[in-house]
Amino acid sequence: MPLTDSRRRIDADRAVFLDYRVPCPFCGTLVGPRFVTREHLDVPPNPPYAATVRCPKCHEIFEVRFSR
Ligand SMILES: [Zn+2]
Repeated sequence: MPLTDSRRRIDADRAVFLDYRVPCPFCGTLVGPRFVTREHLDVPPNPPYAATVRCPKCHEIFEVRFSR
């Protein structure tokens, strides 16, 4: 898988994300719920299972998958 593709999908602890401690995979800026553009509600049991995030600094878009 190309590097650019792998960076578009990261895994994070949900609590860490909610606390704005997940770094953007492109520039390292810490992101959280305020920068979510779309939540993915389709996968049970604990929706949202993942969220699409747009980095406020470098404007890259990536998907955060919640590991718990
Ligand atoms: Zn960024």
